[in-house]
Amino acid sequence: SGLVAARVGSGTYVLPPYSTPARSLPRGNAPCGASPARTPDAASDPWPQWQHHALHRHSFLSAPPAIPLSSHSPQADIIALNSGNSDPRLFPVDQLRASLRETLRREGWKAGEYEEVAGYPPLRRTISHLLADQGIPAAPQDIIITAGSQQALALACQLLTSPGDSVLVESPSYADGLDLFRSRGLRIIPVPMDEEGMRTDLLPALLKEHAPRLIYTIPNFHNPTGICMSGQRRRQLVHMAREHGIPLLEDDFVGELRYEGHAQPALKALAHPGDTLYAGTFSKMLMPGLRVGYLVAEGPVRDLLIRCKRLNDLSSSGIIQRALHRFVSVGRHRAHLARSCQIYRKRRNALLQAMAEHLPQVRIAPIQGGLFAWCTLPAPLTAGSLAPLALHHGVAVAPGTAFFLHPEQGAAHLRLNFALHDPETLQEAVRRLAAAIRQLEAQ
Ligand code: PMP
Repeated sequence: SGLVAARVGSGTYVLPPYSTPARSLPRGNAPCGASPARTPDAASDPWPQWQHHALHRHSFLSAPPAIPLSSHSPQADIIALNSGNSDPRLFPVDQLRASLRETLRREGWKAGEYEEVAGYPPLRRTISHLLADQGIPAAPQDIIITAGSQQALALACQLLTSPGDSVLVESPSYADGLDLFRSRGLRIIPVPMDEEGMRTDLLPALLKEHAPRLIYTIPNFHNPTGICMSGQRRRQLVHMAREHGIPLLEDDFVGELRYEGHAQPALKALAHPGDTLYAGTFSKMLMPGLRVGYLVAEGPVRDLLIRCKRLNDLSSSGIIQRALHRFVSVGRHRAHLARSCQIYRKRRNALLQAMAEHLPQVRIAPIQGGLFAWCTLPAPLTAGSLAPLALHHGVAVAPGTAFFLHPEQGAAHLRLNFALHDPETLQEAVRRLAAAIRQLEAQ
């Protein structure tokens, strides 16, 4: 006897009996706890009042996430292009097994202790070298190992913001990042993007009006648009953040998956020490199940972040960190990365070719790397009508609505993940998408 509700971008679903009455769930910057508490009907609702209070305070969390965490559809006949992941079939399982075995043989019980809160020192040194190779300055003592970069974002938020503060984000942006900011009660201020990334020309007015506590950006192969921020915009952003004394949170989740063109310098490399927090992860370049990411921070904030990390989970797994250190230091990581780039480049090309052949009317943002093709549908097509029909035709796509503060702004967009499937499957996926579009156009 659940209640039926709808969330833009994720379809219709049934709320469990203790949920709010059916109505559109608050999106945008709706304040937490604004809706009146429902008095539970004791006969049909066994849950105590505090459960309802929690629900009203965090009502947006009761909607299922619009984007699945797993890579493949549970239905074998659906081709999933809606995930945010790299291809799990490429995970170097044998090499990781060897690294784990070697770690436990060499280190025995030591590997099973609580790890240092900031992370296993040799892994932090290794990451410092990996970053130096990309021109990113990061001393080992300034690197904090986190449970994926999601925890890096959460720690930065926890330390630098209070409920009611403003955070500037690109529009669109990473869906679980937006929800993280919402869960913290932050006012999300969207900054529109174009093909060079965040519109820095709009920043002076926004900074003045909202006095944000944080600027969150994904400069490389942005999620969901795949766009790389231009060098000039990076310099402008770094300069303005410094001028206004606002920390930059740089999320570099797939920076090393580049298929063409030259890398632009990281904001971290352009900024003064201590002006940015840089979040990295092994999730997309290696595997998300390791849950190893990191945050680079300098100054007093670094020590506070380490204290926060301890309060969150005491430490990340020492066993995994040691095995990962071994995996990277014997060259397995570099080899895996080179192979992944080669494979994903072919898949990107296959998707672009199939789109050009079957759906020339759909515009695609330039893709120099990463995992995503960001598509703009010709009017009057919308993601809201296309996504369910595409699923019916056997292909799952991520509707653009999932990535905007105001979902309706993403109505003309789709995010397609090209990294998960071989070229033939991608061609079939595009044929199915084209069939769905033809059906919609004929209606
Ligand atoms: N940032 C972006 C842009 C992401 O897409 C993701 C995961 N999809 C993350 C951060 C967090 O991933 P993880 O915690 O696995 O590093």
